[in-house]
Amino acid sequence: MARRRQLYEGKAKILFEGPEPGTLVQYFKDDATAFNAQKKGTITGKGVLNNRISEYLMQRLGEIGIPTHFIRRLNMREQLVREVEIIPLEIVVRNVAAGSLATRLGIQEGTRLPRSIIEYYYKNDALQDPMVSEEHITAFGWASTHDLDDIVQLTLRVNDFLTGLLLGVGITLVDFKLEFGRLYENDEMRIVLADEISPDNCRLWDAKTGEKMDKDRFRRDLGKVEEGYQEVARRLGILPEAGVRDMKGPEVMQ
Ligand code: C5P
Repeated sequence: MARRRQLYEGKAKILFEGPEPGTLVQYFKDDATAFNAQKKGTITGKGVLNNRISEYLMQRLGEIGIPTHFIRRLNMREQLVREVEIIPLEIVVRNVAAGSLATRLGIQEGTRLPRSIIEYYYKNDALQDPMVSEEHITAFGWASTHDLDDIVQLTLRVNDFLTGLLLGVGITLVDFKLEFGRLYENDEMRIVLADEISPDNCRLWDAKTGEKMDKDRFRRDLGKVEEGYQEVARRLGILPEAGVRDMKGPEVMQ
C-alpha cells in the first residue's frame, strides 16, 4: 500500500497529505482527551462515529450554502478535505449555560441564555486556549475585521440550522465549537468551515430528559460514553450499517 505523509497529529485526528494537491485526508482516532489533555482515554468506535456524524452535518450545511472544507468520506475513519490555512481561533457558540460559562459566571447549568452567545478562544495548547476578545484577534493579526465578520455570520447560520436539525431528532444543541480556515482559489480567499462537528466538540442533550450524549460523558465520568455517541448517530439515521460490531475500521496507513 502507498505510504502517505503525515502532516499533523492532534488529540483526536491525524492529517495526511491528500491524493491531489490542495487536499488532505483527515483520519479520526478513538483517542479522547479532556482538560487540555490532562485526562486521556479511548472511546471505542468514536472515530468511526465522528467521521460519519461530521460528514453528515458538513454535507447538510453545504446544502444551505455554508462553505466547508469537506469533500467526501473515504472510508470508516477517513474523509477527504480541502487544505486550508487554519485560523488559530476556536469559535464557541452557546445557547444554554453549561461547562466553562456556567462555572465562570456562576450560572446554573441548563439555564437557557437570553440569546446565543459567541466566544473566541486562541488556539494554543501551551496557553490552554485562553479566551480572547475581538480586540486581541485583530490587534495580533489572527484574523482581520472582515474575516471576523464572515466568521460570525457563518457561525450564526450554522447555529440556527443545527439547532433546528438536532431539535428535529429530539436533541438540544447546548453549545459547540467551530474552526474556520482560509481557502485560496484563483487568487481569491474565502473563509470556510473546517475541522469537524461531532459530539467531541458539541454539547448535545436529550431534549426531553436532558441526558448528555456528548464528550461530557467522558469528561465527567458519567459512563455509557460510546452509547451517547451512537445515540446521536442513530437519531440522525446514520449509524454505520455494521453497527457497533465493526467499529475498529481500517488501520491507519503509515
Ligand atoms: O468547556 P466549554 O464549556 O468552554 O466548552 C464549550 C463548547 O466548546 C463545548 O461544546 C466543548 O465541547 C467545545 N470545546 C471544544 N474544544 C475545546 C474547548 C471547548 O470542542 N478546546
